[in-house]
Order: sequence, then C-alpha cells, then structure tokens
Amino acid sequence: MLWMIAVLCKRKKIFKRLFPETHWVAALDGIETYKSREKDDCEHCLSRRVLVDDEYITEYYHRYVVLQMVGVTPAVFLDVEALQPGETEAAAGMRLLERFLKRHPRYLDAITMDAFYLQAPFVKKLLKYGLHLLIVLKQENRELYQDAVGLCASVPVKITKVVTKEIRFWDLGAMQTWTQLEREVRVVRSIEKQLKGKKQKNGEWVYKEETKDWIWCIISPEGGEKPDGELTVKWGHARWDEETRGFFELTQYWHLDHCYRHNATAMLACLMILFMAFTLTTIFFQRNLKGIWRSFTRVALARLLMDDLVLPYEGSFWPAAPT
Ligand SMILES: [Zn+2]
Repeated sequence: MLWMIAVLCKRKKIFKRLFPETHWVAALDGIETYKSREKDDCEHCLSRRVLVDDEYITEYYHRYVVLQMVGVTPAVFLDVEALQPGETEAAAGMRLLERFLKRHPRYLDAITMDAFYLQAPFVKKLLKYGLHLLIVLKQENRELYQDAVGLCASVPVKITKVVTKEIRFWDLGAMQTWTQLEREVRVVRSIEKQLKGKKQKNGEWVYKEETKDWIWCIISPEGGEKPDGELTVKWGHARWDEETRGFFELTQYWHLDHCYRHNATAMLACLMILFMAFTLTTIFFQRNLKGIWRSFTRVALARLLMDDLVLPYEGSFWPAAPT
C-alpha cells in the first residue's frame, strides 16, 4: 500500500517541489523505534553493549531502514525494512532497495545516503539500477577524503552569501582514488558558515558562528547525465531537513517510538500503518481543506478528525472528498 500511495502521488501530481528541479530523489536512513535494557522474549531484538556507570550492560533495540522522498512535500515514505540480528544496516538497506527498485525501476532518479553506505560492494550492486548515488564522505574513507580536502586548494571556490549564511562550494570533479570501486566518482564540498542569533534574558541578541563542512560523493550511471554539483548539495541537505521529512513530527505527535506490542511482525506493521497514516493525513490537510480550516494547526485538525471518528455528529466537519 505504501508503494501504491507513492505511485498515485506521482500520477496525480501531488508532490510539490521544495526547490526547483526535475529529479526524483529519496533518502535511505536508519531509525530506531525500541530500546530496552531488559531481555524480553523476542528473537528479533538487536543487541549492543553500552557503558552505564562504569559498567557494560546489554541493551536491546529494534532498528529499521527507511526509504523516503526528499526535496518534495509530502515526504512520502516509500518502504521500510527491519534489521535482523547480526546484519549491517547496508545489508537491510540493500534488501529494501532491491525490492523497491525491481518493482519500480523508474520511480527514482537518485538516492542520498549516509557515510557508512560508501562501501564498494554496496555501491557496485546498486549502480546496476542506473541511479545517481549521493553519499556523505567522512574521514573513515581516508584516501578519498584526504585527496578531496587536498584538492580544494587548487580548485576555484565559489562563494555565495545569503543574509547571515556564507557558503563556500567546490566541485572537485572526477576522482580515481577509490580503487576498489574500479571507476571514478565525483566529489563536491560545501563549507557553510552561519551566524545564529539567540535572544538573551536581558533582551540582547548574542550571535554565534556555526560552521559545517560537508563532502559528498556522487556516483552516476555510466554514460548518462551528470547532475549539477550545486544541485546535488541540495539533495544532500534535503536528507537532513527533519522538519519537512516529518521525523520530528512523527516522534513528537505520532508516537513513532512507542512499542504497542513487542513482536517483530507487529512492530513492522505498526510502523507501516503509521507511515501510511502520516502520508495520507498530510495529503488530506494539504489538498482537501479550504477556507478557515487552513488556519488550524495540524494537531488541532487531528483532534477534530479524531472527534469526528468517535462522536455521533450530524454530518462531518470535513468537506467532501473531490470526485
Ligand atoms: Zn525485540
């Protein structure tokens, strides 16, 4: 059903772009919904050792990889896959992507991912599907990282200033350093300085400079188009845009991390139902509400929607669905 909703969203032109462009981009990310230090009767719990008051204890948790649209609203959830005990996030991520991409080979143009997906076998396998891959580059990938940082000295920098934000951008072009991949990757770097103001109790504003240094690898299908470096930075940032992606809202108001029943199948089903409800409610609020209702907060609207479901009203608060 998540797939069906996603396909309908595209067909019915539901998606609104958050910045002008033509690619369809999704982010692959991990989320954790359950954590306990007591052993329950569950075979699917993952476990890790954590340090508590100078003592190592075992913590049990459930983790999922999620594929979600970015750069558009609503940020539709495309698919979710549970991590099995002992496997890496990349293994679960690959299972999810292969399932989705085999069924919907042309739905996406690009996928953005975290640094630990930057592994040659994972990337090689995924390249078969003809997508652009945008992966964060961190120091763990030492050679490529060091080469990229070193190259910045000899490549012209492009500086953009927007009010309190300064962006230094380098398109480092194709690099051959990542030998295991047996092909070149493009690297872009963006250092962003922003003055962030905070109002003190005495009414004065204190400004602090925040600097973020981002390096991304872009691996594109051979022979195809090469997306503009600055555009790919926008894809990368869209992955971090928690507010538009809904994770904050889902945790705060939708109890994403509540475990209704500690059973792997039930937990996955609840998560999928939650994603479906989130997508459908967002679309309903965005498209079906008119007039005064548009000024209500989503929480207030959700409350009314709930009342409407359980109370014996004459008629409904809500306008009729479009036919
Ligand atoms: Zn469990």
